[in-house]
Amino acid sequence: MIAFDNSYAQLPAALFERTRPTPVKAPTLITVNTELALSLGLDAKWLASDEGIAMLSGNEVVEGSDPLAMAYAGHQFGQWVPQLGDGRAVLLGEIVAENQRYDLQLKGAGRTPFSRGGDGRNWVGPVLREYLVSEAMASLGVPTTRALAAVSTGEYVLREQGPMPGAIVARVARSHIRVGTFQYFAARNNSDALQGLIHHVIERHYPHLSDADNSATALLEAVINAQASLVAHWQSLGFIHGVMNTDNCSVSGDTIDYGPCAFMDTYSADKLFSSIDMGARYAYQNQPRMAQWNLVNLAQCLLPFIDEEPERSVEIAQAAINRFDEIFITHYTRRMRMKLGLSDEQDNDLELASQLLQLMETHQLDFTISFTQLTTDEANTPFAPGGPLHEWFCSWQERLGGGAESLMAARELMKDVNPVVIPRNHLVEEFIDSAVRDGDYAKFNDMLAAVTSPFKDDHLGTQYAQAPKPEELVTQTFCGT
Ligand code: AMP
Ligand code: MG
Repeated sequence: MIAFDNSYAQLPAALFERTRPTPVKAPTLITVNTELALSLGLDAKWLASDEGIAMLSGNEVVEGSDPLAMAYAGHQFGQWVPQLGDGRAVLLGEIVAENQRYDLQLKGAGRTPFSRGGDGRNWVGPVLREYLVSEAMASLGVPTTRALAAVSTGEYVLREQGPMPGAIVARVARSHIRVGTFQYFAARNNSDALQGLIHHVIERHYPHLSDADNSATALLEAVINAQASLVAHWQSLGFIHGVMNTDNCSVSGDTIDYGPCAFMDTYSADKLFSSIDMGARYAYQNQPRMAQWNLVNLAQCLLPFIDEEPERSVEIAQAAINRFDEIFITHYTRRMRMKLGLSDEQDNDLELASQLLQLMETHQLDFTISFTQLTTDEANTPFAPGGPLHEWFCSWQERLGGGAESLMAARELMKDVNPVVIPRNHLVEEFIDSAVRDGDYAKFNDMLAAVTSPFKDDHLGTQYAQAPKPEELVTQTFCGT
């Protein structure tokens, strides 16, 4: 059983709509995340039992759960949409474990008051993709929502490609509060809801700010820092979110909403995967700027609470927003230093990293593999004598202090931050195909094991550590909701 807490349901009523998951025909467990269950104090065996599956599929609402759909709005690709909200997700309640509160949400649980024209459902492709990529991100140390379980529904959902097997993912998040949640109430001039939200977010995500002189300013600065740190982490791994709309921008600074996301193979600064992003708004190199754009929208919502005098509010908010670049660069430089095994700081470190990226781009090298080669052994790689990156390699070695010892020491540090395995797109598509076509999850499970131990060099030489062959290369991803 689960002892749910329901603090969001106690907030002003405008923040959500009470709703119940819609039961499904024949729920079957695809997988349950035993390790995550344990850390939440949940019994994985119970989750995998008939009763557990009934809860995970939305067929039963267990005692103590007060299910609801959250209200939010957002800018989608820069366009204002005054009402979005949980159209296919139902929050079952919260679990408090080790002083941290977590939402448990079913994504794909049927229609809600926010569904608009949608069916409220999800299918096995996006469910497995979100499950695997979010768990990979967690194992890479990136703040993210998690996946507790996936179930198939025994029903079909109609999508562009035709009828697809339905599925639900049970998602765990420190909260599902987004910039778009604030926007929903700011657009409706609902000060009470905003005030409640500010208080709730500070208590939940930034408790050290509870004594701040001004809660709104402190919150804005905290979210700016959390987002800058998050996006710096993404950049350092070649992760492209793909839909950084304000409704997919969490105020806790966690990665949320895995749609057309992808890790890049060959390095390219303007890499883009999403099939629906015509303006290349969310391309790799734009991600920091887009995060800042989202934060401007958060700032806008908080203005009335920052200072009594509107002009002064704008001044304070603008100053906070203007600091984003510097904060981002600080986080990003720290990440790149770690990737290069630099344990002290020198002025030219960022330049050294940029030069490497430029060389990768010129010579069309794989981002992850280039760092792995640098971390393990440069022989027979572009870094070796005679190779196109040898000159860079020499300047890096010099920066490390020269000599074999400093190289070895650096490589020891680098192993903890440079993954051998990332969730490669072509392999993601492969396991989705196999699940859809044959109801076979073996490839999914096998890859899940690999991406959740991403730094282990046992994976070297396996398909998970290799770049796609030209004929396997995936150049486009689809939202596929
Ligand atoms: P997303 O692109 O996944 O961030 O979703 C954007 C909005 O569309 C959110 O309000 C979702 O709840 C809603 N949405 C996406 N898919 C569906 C669906 N199948 N049924 C109802 N609402 C949906
Ligand atoms: Mg979303």
